[in-house]
Amino acid sequence: MKIFDTFKSSINQSLGNIYGHSIVIKREDLIHPIVSGNKFRKLKYIFKEVIDDNIPVIITFGGAFSNHLAATATAGKSLGIQTLGIVRGEEWKKKISQSITLNFCQKKGMHLICIPRKIYAKKETALEVKKILKKYPKHRLIPEGGTEALAIKGCSEILDPADFGFDSVCCSIGTGGTFTGLIQSSSSKQTVIGFNALNNPSVKDYILTQTQKTNWAINSDYTFGGYAKTDNSLISFMNSFYKQYKIPLDPIYTGKMLFAIFDLIKTHKWKWGKRILIIHTGGLQGISGMNLQLQKKNALLLSYQK
Ligand SMILES: *Cc1c(COP(=O)(O)O)cnc(C)c1O
Repeated sequence: MKIFDTFKSSINQSLGNIYGHSIVIKREDLIHPIVSGNKFRKLKYIFKEVIDDNIPVIITFGGAFSNHLAATATAGKSLGIQTLGIVRGEEWKKKISQSITLNFCQKKGMHLICIPRKIYAKKETALEVKKILKKYPKHRLIPEGGTEALAIKGCSEILDPADFGFDSVCCSIGTGGTFTGLIQSSSSKQTVIGFNALNNPSVKDYILTQTQKTNWAINSDYTFGGYAKTDNSLISFMNSFYKQYKIPLDPIYTGKMLFAIFDLIKTHKWKWGKRILIIHTGGLQGISGMNLQLQKKNALLLSYQK
């Protein structure tokens, strides 16, 4: 389990005083040199189970920018477990080299199967996907984004009792697994705030099935139009954030969350206390892929790469 042995609580870095608020960032992005952040937290116990049960193949799902696919491919390579990625969008079959993430996964030995979006939406209930799974009699399926009970357990280890002094803990939300883990290990005196990275109102119902605790809130006002959508104001904010703090953010999750937090504080809408801990969940492998897309649209580019 060498790749996962680096897991300790990661460093807390202060941004200083922002409009009267003390902001600290937990640098989960620095956990692993290649693939960072919450995806390794989520995979830790899953891989442990796979190794204990002697399962040779892991099969999972993701899009062409997926941090989860990149993390699964890396962990699989490092631990000698074959990985298969079912990719959203048949069109990628012919142009894997154009996706920095998919290219990376392939180099790590992940076998990729690109399927039409309509079929992908049904995941393992689709006949086509069932056929793929049948070819691997002994496999472990991991849901999209890696969210399942063992992943939530891994994410509950992000917070440390030393973090209980913060009034609020912030993270970005995709499937909600990371957010759930944080809620579980939070002190009931603090509020855990999740910033939706996509238009996904049903995530709230999912969280309600996962926890009895009530010290949490979800903000969905800063999705920038949806998953992996950006605009110049977001990119420009991320560039100045990097210039000032030397902390790279990713455009899909953490960039939107920091934009939201700064905006809410500046406009006096922040209501969750003055001592704020923000979880940097990583995702930096997606920056160069996003820049390629922005370039095609002649839009503003991120000034830094991983
Ligand atoms: C996947 C991801 C998230 C979302 O995590 P969920 O557990 O799916 O909500 C947040 N930040 C980054 C950088 C990610 O890669």
